[in-house]
Amino acid sequence: MKHDIMNELQRIMEQNIADIEQAKAEGQSVIGFYCLYSPTEIAVAADAIPLPLCGTNNNPIAAAEEKLPRNLCPLIKSSFGFAVTDTCPFFQFSDIIIGDTTCDGKKKMFELLSRYKTTHVLQLPQSQDTAMALSLWRSELERFRKIVETQTGVVINDDRLRAAIRLMNRERGARKALMDVNKDKPAPLAGSQLLEILFKAGFLADKKKGISLMEEVIVETKNGAFRSKDLRGGSRKRILLTGVPVGLGSDKVVKIVEQSGADVVAFENCSGYKQAFFVDEKTDPLDALAEQYLATPCSVMSPNNGRFDLLKEMIQEFSADGVIDLTWMACHTYNIEAVRIAEFVQETFGMPILHLETDYAESDTEQLRVRIEAYLEML
Ligand code: SF4
Ligand code: SF4
Repeated sequence: MKHDIMNELQRIMEQNIADIEQAKAEGQSVIGFYCLYSPTEIAVAADAIPLPLCGTNNNPIAAAEEKLPRNLCPLIKSSFGFAVTDTCPFFQFSDIIIGDTTCDGKKKMFELLSRYKTTHVLQLPQSQDTAMALSLWRSELERFRKIVETQTGVVINDDRLRAAIRLMNRERGARKALMDVNKDKPAPLAGSQLLEILFKAGFLADKKKGISLMEEVIVETKNGAFRSKDLRGGSRKRILLTGVPVGLGSDKVVKIVEQSGADVVAFENCSGYKQAFFVDEKTDPLDALAEQYLATPCSVMSPNNGRFDLLKEMIQEFSADGVIDLTWMACHTYNIEAVRIAEFVQETFGMPILHLETDYAESDTEQLRVRIEAYLEML
């Protein structure tokens, strides 16, 4: 049964490319996103297709390094590399790009990216707790709305925005419910399986297809279709992965944890639980979007107190035995925040934390394995 669903997912992914081509031929716009702070609802409200474009693959990095410094986050280099090599169909499909002023590397990369595609960069505030930050972000979303209206020719009124919020909340609900299956002990889904499904579902142009697929997976996991009872031995340590985003191609730490006999049961990052916050459906839709998206607990914010609250809640709810904090090489914000995260986890749960700094290459796999195995031994 598991193979049926994974085959179905593969089939849907292939069909998705054809669907997007067809939609574009019929005049639908495609909008590429690079960060969780920009509300996809604004694209959906104009019947445009939002696509996530953050690079998770090592292959295009060498080409990116011909222009960008080598000592830069692999996510930024991979993203830029896909543009330079023109090897990502989703980048090719995108009519315009939406970026945000998050970390230094990403915002400066967008200046170069604009040579390849029309790029609009939203001015993201650096803190979340002031009225000025919220008002600035709301005005940037208003600008974003006008950009999308110009691109699509669709007037994005409040009714359209509300409908888009409802649809995206349904998607968030399905994602959250899928991630929450691993609150069960032992975990019914391997972390790598969960990641693959969440990652691929994110590219589906037809949001309803993605929602149905995730709902189907939830039912199947409850039937034990993904991991038989004997494969989910109760002695496997339960690891929560926090920090930078991961995806297919940048998931080596997840795989090493599994090969070392433990499970990654939850992802406190923007590939995982940070995509599970609901937007208020009752208030002014742009206010609600500004408020919820600005609250995303990412290390580019200072302070980033929401991450500590989320981490605490997730460690408890997923019964984590240990926490691995992953930082991509040269990501200063997550790297520095790792100090406070380690102190917090130790003080709150008396739990040691493993902080890993790596990139997308495989060259340090064995070193990582040694450190991960040693950490698992300690738990
Ligand atoms: S980690 Fe932060 S800056 Fe990077 S994509 Fe996620 S929300 Fe955006
Ligand atoms: S992982 Fe860090 S350096 Fe890389 S794009 Fe995200 S915030 Fe920027």
